[in-house]
Amino acid sequence: MKRSMKYVYGPIPSRRLGQSLGISPIPKKACNYACVYCMLGPTDKMTNTPQMYMPVQDILDEFDQVLASGIPFDMVTFAGDGEPTLYAGLKELILALKKRTKKPIVLITNGALLTDADVVDTCMKADIVMPSVNGYDERTFKLVNRPHGDIDFEQVTKALKKFSRQYPGLLWLELMLMKGINDSTEDLHKYYDFFGQFYYDRLYINTPNRPPVESFAQMVTHEKMLEAMDILNGIGIEDGFENGYASEITDDLEAILNITQRHPMNQHEIEHFLRKRKNNNIAGVFMLLRSHPKIKIIHYRGIDTYRIK
Ligand code: SF4
Repeated sequence: MKRSMKYVYGPIPSRRLGQSLGISPIPKKACNYACVYCMLGPTDKMTNTPQMYMPVQDILDEFDQVLASGIPFDMVTFAGDGEPTLYAGLKELILALKKRTKKPIVLITNGALLTDADVVDTCMKADIVMPSVNGYDERTFKLVNRPHGDIDFEQVTKALKKFSRQYPGLLWLELMLMKGINDSTEDLHKYYDFFGQFYYDRLYINTPNRPPVESFAQMVTHEKMLEAMDILNGIGIEDGFENGYASEITDDLEAILNITQRHPMNQHEIEHFLRKRKNNNIAGVFMLLRSHPKIKIIHYRGIDTYRIK
């Protein structure tokens, strides 16, 4: 890929999206939110009005270069420097991309502009829409998202509810949990009730695992993530942690050996896998794994990863 790419980046590996080719149709940090956890820094351009920030053709030219280079990717993902629905050319761009690739088009959005019929029409064209939903009431909405003054919690909620009933693609909600801000057991039950009004396919539960704009937006503990996953029936995406493992093999140790033969698992993934299977001797399974002749344990970034030698 040429170094001069301005709008297209990656592909970057993503646990949710595979090799994700990113497109950012927004100037750096143009957004209608100023989330406390944002890893992009402060919102430089707070706006709630979609604009034609750059010609659609300029982005397509870069995309065509990527296609010509033959770089493999699994999905095309709109995210990047700010809120992508603030790009007025988004619908035209998605439709043009769909003529160029059969790979799914993913739209990562804060969902605030789903109150706008044109933006709804645009979102309908994407294959996967991933709205972040961090407030279960006006207080938590304002506390976490710090939205543009024109954005109203009730209207955004109503709009997402309506969209979730109409949208034919996959709707994956994402919740950002932060220590001491929105992670109490009471908060989690309120989120559970709140999410019940939406029709969605998955809920991802995230926590700031990259430096947030506000230092008080801290990661939740591993135990809290497990509690949230249980209460909300969501998929945790804590750093280095995935909980989507399953196996037809009934013996837990054999199941782990079978999986780690193809895919290494870290200690948290194994723990969650065992909890999900209602294993009541998790420490015992870890002892067997540690002494197992086929298993190699790799300590990396403070976490033990188990794989077959
Ligand atoms: S919506 Fe996204 S880009 Fe905007 S402030 Fe929040 S995290 Fe950052």
